[in-house]
Amino acid sequence: MSEPQHAYAWQMTQWQDLQRLISAERLPHALLLAGPSAIGKLRFAKALVSYLLCESPGDLAACGQCRSCHFQGEAAHPDFKEICPEEGKRQIGVDQVRSLQHFSAQHAHRNGGRKLVLIHPAEAMNANTANALLKTLEEPASGTLLILVSHSSSQLLPTIRSRCLQLSFGIPRPEMTESWLRDYVGDQSTAQRLLAETGGRPLAARQVFEEDGLASRERFDKGLIALVDGQRSPLQFAEEMLDADILQVLDWWVARLLSLSRHQLADQVLTAESWQRFKAVPSVSVIQGLERALKLRASFSRGVALNKRLILESLFLEWTQLCQNRAVS
Ligand SMILES: [Zn+2]
Repeated sequence: MSEPQHAYAWQMTQWQDLQRLISAERLPHALLLAGPSAIGKLRFAKALVSYLLCESPGDLAACGQCRSCHFQGEAAHPDFKEICPEEGKRQIGVDQVRSLQHFSAQHAHRNGGRKLVLIHPAEAMNANTANALLKTLEEPASGTLLILVSHSSSQLLPTIRSRCLQLSFGIPRPEMTESWLRDYVGDQSTAQRLLAETGGRPLAARQVFEEDGLASRERFDKGLIALVDGQRSPLQFAEEMLDADILQVLDWWVARLLSLSRHQLADQVLTAESWQRFKAVPSVSVIQGLERALKLRASFSRGVALNKRLILESLFLEWTQLCQNRAVS
């Protein structure tokens, strides 16, 4: 059996807020854990599930020893249901949510215990599915706690949001995450760079480290420089980037434009030194480019079928033209 997981150190404020509700027996029927992706909301939710199912929890985590903890360590606890998109799917199916009605109508297996439902990411529910969930939310079975995790809570139906107590998670402060990441990657400066590259999101930073460190991003930056230097055409660069995940390329693009924009408007340090040469691109164009990239990213992550090659070509062509107009060199 594995050690019981607890919330990350940077989530202690939210954990303590919940603890107060739990000890005052004021836990609502539905919680919405909202905030950017890759900062540990799911881990927090799972720690909460273990904690609430545990028969003798400590202050910070489940005991890891009792019958309930044993259940969760080995197989699904009968009082817990996790709903997320099935393998290979982007969306949560309406039948998955409908099955909740049966689940919440049953008595908890533990005497006087709670039943828990975890849905993540909540924005993976389409309108049909969300409406099916509303039925469950409107007639809350006593003793069932619904935990929704969302990286994009503005996409949820307002009627769902309004029925949940929202717990907000922001980008954690670097002093909290740097030491955690340093223990994992081995040195402080790599940890700092990884966090800068991922907008301060610690789990994204760890994932970048696990994948290929920063090599892909460096390749992207080098390609961009070659593009504005005229050593590559937008078509060639788009071709080179086609083997990368389009969401990842758009993430890099967004992160770079965001960093450039903050540099221009608030004099913040650029994430990538090589982007110094783009300082002269008008800040309004940078912001427009950012908006466009974010929209594209949202479309791709919803699974809208778009032509990757054409989109990359047009992004790179537009950038080349902006740089040429400003004689960036
Ligand atoms: Zn326990």
